[in-house]
Amino acid sequence: MLLGAIADDFTGATDLCSMLVRGGMRTVQLIGVPPADMPIPDVDAIVVALKSRTAPARQAIDESLAALKWLQAAGARQFFFKYCSTFDSTPHGNIGPVADALVNALDCGFALACPAFPTNARTVYQGHLFVAGSLLNESGMENHPLTPMTDANLVRVLSHQSEGTVGLVPFVTVDRGANAIRDAMTELKERGRRYAIVDAITDAHLVAIGEAAANHALITGGSGIAMGLPGNFRRAGLLADAGDPGALPRIDGACAVVAGSCSRATLAQLGFARLHLPVFELDALTTPDAVALSEAALAWASDKIGDKPVVIAASAPPEKVAALQERLGREQAGALVEEAVALIAEGLVARGVRKMVVAGGETSGAVVGRLGVRSLRIGAEIDPGVPWTLASGSGADLMLALKSGNFGATDFFLKAFRGLEG
Ligand code: ADP
Repeated sequence: MLLGAIADDFTGATDLCSMLVRGGMRTVQLIGVPPADMPIPDVDAIVVALKSRTAPARQAIDESLAALKWLQAAGARQFFFKYCSTFDSTPHGNIGPVADALVNALDCGFALACPAFPTNARTVYQGHLFVAGSLLNESGMENHPLTPMTDANLVRVLSHQSEGTVGLVPFVTVDRGANAIRDAMTELKERGRRYAIVDAITDAHLVAIGEAAANHALITGGSGIAMGLPGNFRRAGLLADAGDPGALPRIDGACAVVAGSCSRATLAQLGFARLHLPVFELDALTTPDAVALSEAALAWASDKIGDKPVVIAASAPPEKVAALQERLGREQAGALVEEAVALIAEGLVARGVRKMVVAGGETSGAVVGRLGVRSLRIGAEIDPGVPWTLASGSGADLMLALKSGNFGATDFFLKAFRGLEG
């Protein structure tokens, strides 16, 4: 095991995993802090996915330190704290407090901080974070319901959150390459800075920063900054070229899609699926009862499972979602539908489904929890950001693809299963 990462949310963790697999590292995502006696997967990188982004700071710190301890015991040589490429946090944390705790626990005194991800239009220049060309605080992120970002100057933002001081490795230095970046970070550390925000506006910058941090105990940032890390391990002779890092064993069994996402992309994907596959729509407005909804869906699916993928969707256009929310309240409506979809996923597995696409971030969390999944071995991407995974836990091994709402092309649900054939 070479790299041990701690991610502050579930889909961000998967994003980082995909980046590492692309770089040639066999990677597993673990759901939550693993129990001490959990066997260590035989892979190059392990990403522990927490839900610590908006948790109280003390809880985020405790869970991150517990994850670090497990990853240290598992033998990781380098550690990574993954947060969002829009630096989602508040004046109280959690990026600063968690990074402080990790720096202290590792006794490394210094870490770089770089959320840049040019492929996704996140760039950092003079310490300021841009999203699709706009300053972070003018990008819409200033209105985020949980983590409004009202300052694009990351040196200032991280200074407010951390007990340490924060310096900058500016573009002119970064553009000169890995040696210049390494020297600049060493100088900042010697001057007592605990963090360096590092500018990056191209993938070449990310690779150079990664190379400059080859000997750092801790790296913090978005998944972009992981781009250069596999190369470090390869150059050090630690990472063998062992064929396809995303190769997964073949799992036999029936196919299904369950959808709880009401995002535009998911609705279009369901529209396309209706032309080719049997689709069952949950009607939570008529039957606001998770058990009854799941029983109806499973009764419909029972004689269809096996031939082609079956599709069961709670997804609905905004006016229908609003109607249910008006009747039950926003949280209650979401919880009811999530529970119904999770029960359906469980019932489908009991009826022989072994390959399942789940649409929706929160929905995926509910399904994974209900199925008792503890780890996801990351396979090939179906579309950018959505890989097939081999899910293991308390039940049978499954192929799971967890699709965040707006990801994936219109034919995603068909394409996903085609990719498993042959
Ligand atoms: P996305 O990734 O698209 O944001 P999520 O699964 O994270 O999808 O969130 C969608 C939320 O909407 C879930 O809480 C889900 O239970 C809820 N939901 C799904 N269908 C309906 C519906 N018909 N009415 C109300 N809420 C719904």
